[in-house]
Amino acid sequence: MDWRPCAGVGCPFHALFEAEHCWEHLPDRRAYARRLAERLRAGEDLSGAYLAKVNLSGYDLRGARLAGAYLYGALLAGAQLEGAMLDGATLQRANLSEAVLRGASLTGALLEGVRGPRSQWQQAGLRQAVLRYASLEEAQLEEAEGSEACLSHAFLAKANLRGFRGAGTRAEFVVAAEASLAEADLTHAHWGGAQLPRANLEGACLDHVNLVGANLAGACLRRVHAYKARMGMAFLAGADLREAALERAILREAVLQGADLRGAHLAGVILERAFLRDAHLSPDALRMASNLKGMEA
Ligand SMILES: [Zn+2]
Repeated sequence: MDWRPCAGVGCPFHALFEAEHCWEHLPDRRAYARRLAERLRAGEDLSGAYLAKVNLSGYDLRGARLAGAYLYGALLAGAQLEGAMLDGATLQRANLSEAVLRGASLTGALLEGVRGPRSQWQQAGLRQAVLRYASLEEAQLEEAEGSEACLSHAFLAKANLRGFRGAGTRAEFVVAAEASLAEADLTHAHWGGAQLPRANLEGACLDHVNLVGANLAGACLRRVHAYKARMGMAFLAGADLREAALERAILREAVLQGADLRGAHLAGVILERAFLRDAHLSPDALRMASNLKGMEA
């Protein structure tokens, strides 16, 4: 789709799709938004359209076809985008507070810095999407497909990511305190320095995950699969690791004070210089560990 310059004198921005002006210079913004919503709702394909900063808050845009559209800074608070096609769209710094994106397709979309508290993304397609610095507290992301997505520095406190398919995600320094990641797949994901206190990761797949230096205080890691997981220097005080499969996991210098490791599988686990005072585990289980040098129990 062709982008023309805005007719506003000296304006550096593009004109909106089929308009003469950018959003800032548009004389009849409300009418424009209403027409746009109607056309999208009727199934018109606006792939690649320039729609920066449009205010479509609260509109019913279910099934909208906006692949590759430029929606930088758009206001979409409370918008219904269920099943929308937004592959490769630019939504940086958009406001998606309480928006519904259930089942929407956002493969490779740019969502950096979006504000989306309590937004809904159940079963959405977020493969390779960029959600760096996104604010998604209390968002619903159950069973979303987010493999290879980037969530670094995102804020996901109390978000629901149950069954999230996040293999290969990058989420360094993500803040997801009290979030649910139960049954999530984080195979080969990079979550170093993640803040996950009191998070629920029960039954999650953490094979080969990088959680170096992560804060998992009081987190539930019951029955996780964490084969060869890299959890050096992780803070796991009071964490529930009952029946966790930790074969060959690296817990070098990890703090496991008061952690519950009853029934955990520790064959080949590396606990070098780890701190296990008041941890609950059987001496038999510990005998399976391969490197306990300098471990404090
Ligand atoms: Zn302008």
